[in-house]
Amino acid sequence: DNRRPAIVAESRQQAAGLYAARETREWQTMDAAHHLHPFSDMGALNQAGSRVITRAQGVYLWDSDGNKIIDGMAGLWCVNVGYGRTDLAEIAYRQMLELPYYNTFFKTTHPPVIELSQLLSEVAPEGFEHFFYCNSGSEGNDTTLRIVHQYWRAKGQPDKKYVISRRNGYHGSTIAGATLGGMGYMHEQMPAQVPYIVHINQPYWYAEGGEQTLEEFGLARARELEAKILELGADKVAAFIGEPFQGAGGVIFPPANYWPEIERICRKYDILLCADEVIGGFGRTGEWFAHQHFGFTPDTMTLAKGLTSGYVPMGAVALKRHVADVLIAAGDFNHGLTYSGHPVAAAIAIANIKLLRDEGIIERVKTDTGPYFQQALREALADSPLVGGVDGAGLVAGIQLTSDKASRGRFENAWEIGTLCRDFCFKNNLIMRATADRMLLSPPLVINRSEIDELVEKAARCIGLTARELG
Ligand code: PLP
Repeated sequence: DNRRPAIVAESRQQAAGLYAARETREWQTMDAAHHLHPFSDMGALNQAGSRVITRAQGVYLWDSDGNKIIDGMAGLWCVNVGYGRTDLAEIAYRQMLELPYYNTFFKTTHPPVIELSQLLSEVAPEGFEHFFYCNSGSEGNDTTLRIVHQYWRAKGQPDKKYVISRRNGYHGSTIAGATLGGMGYMHEQMPAQVPYIVHINQPYWYAEGGEQTLEEFGLARARELEAKILELGADKVAAFIGEPFQGAGGVIFPPANYWPEIERICRKYDILLCADEVIGGFGRTGEWFAHQHFGFTPDTMTLAKGLTSGYVPMGAVALKRHVADVLIAAGDFNHGLTYSGHPVAAAIAIANIKLLRDEGIIERVKTDTGPYFQQALREALADSPLVGGVDGAGLVAGIQLTSDKASRGRFENAWEIGTLCRDFCFKNNLIMRATADRMLLSPPLVINRSEIDELVEKAARCIGLTARELG
């Protein structure tokens, strides 16, 4: 313990001296020369030059030109405890010295992965007692598929092979993750998709609800699952997977009756219900897991992002006892990753979960900052002619842009409108994401009231600038 200040000082010094000080242009040129960016038009990006983020603290980022930017997206929905937590850095440093790596194959284990699993079983809802580790949300969903298939094989029902997911869902970018997701623009770039994965429609009332009430639409969209099960045959369907709220698809909150109906249908036809909690997990809605907000109980949960608050990569699949029991009794499970349960990632995850719990961060999202944010955002946007509605709970929100408030009008060039708004955000040092004509916010869970005021004021200003530009 005497060494703690020294360790922190030392690691700060090292980080500060890690890279040469360069001009922004030089970094951009090097970046364009050698770095291929995810989900980007790389040619266009190379021309324009990427923004270079050099450091971060709390809810703020700084770029290489010294701009201070408020991060309304917690990175990619992941930096739940905020930036700059020296306690997480310190744990990583100490764990690296103690045991930087060992695997969990071949009858071995280690303290960090044991302690993490125990801790997860304490914070997860009743019955989630077993955890399988990987490195990302995509791998988590691949792992979920592997587990689902092994489960039904072990139960003597190997014909239960189909997994049903939703259009405009997002489950990652591996081949299986992209297949599970319902993003047409990703499917188009693949010669084939993983077989036995089929999609039903999403519960996006604003765009697809027509004349139906929210309740009628919620039931109708949930019952598409039943229709699909009957079409395929219940004895052929293994699982349904969905995000409790669609994140990348636009922070789409389903009508309140949607998930209870989905759950009823899964139980009726003996289909596993898999929740992709990669975004929703670890406090985003003010509950530990988003399915708790929506009032249903899945059989499996995919976890990543907030598990380590993005400080290092880690993903996991949480299994309810009845699923784990089957898997454990089934003999060899031929799946695993070199870094399954990585000790440094596990050590950070433990420290991160303790921060979320012991500093009352999630509790504050539920009782204070979440309701404050939701109300402030709705009030600030209430009079905007461009805003058709706001979805959200806790510290996540989707703002629907509309061409006509009264008729829920949609822009034909929805992606251009969202991009226009996002460009205003960029210029105003606000990170707000656009998915077509929806603007998304998901700030670090440690954001305080005055930072929320700033975030909301900037978001409203940028939406106002967009409205003015559109005339
Ligand atoms: N599932 C959901 C719901 C996600 O939002 C994401 C990423 O945004 C993923 C899975 C994939 O996670 P990763 O990018 O860590 O592979």
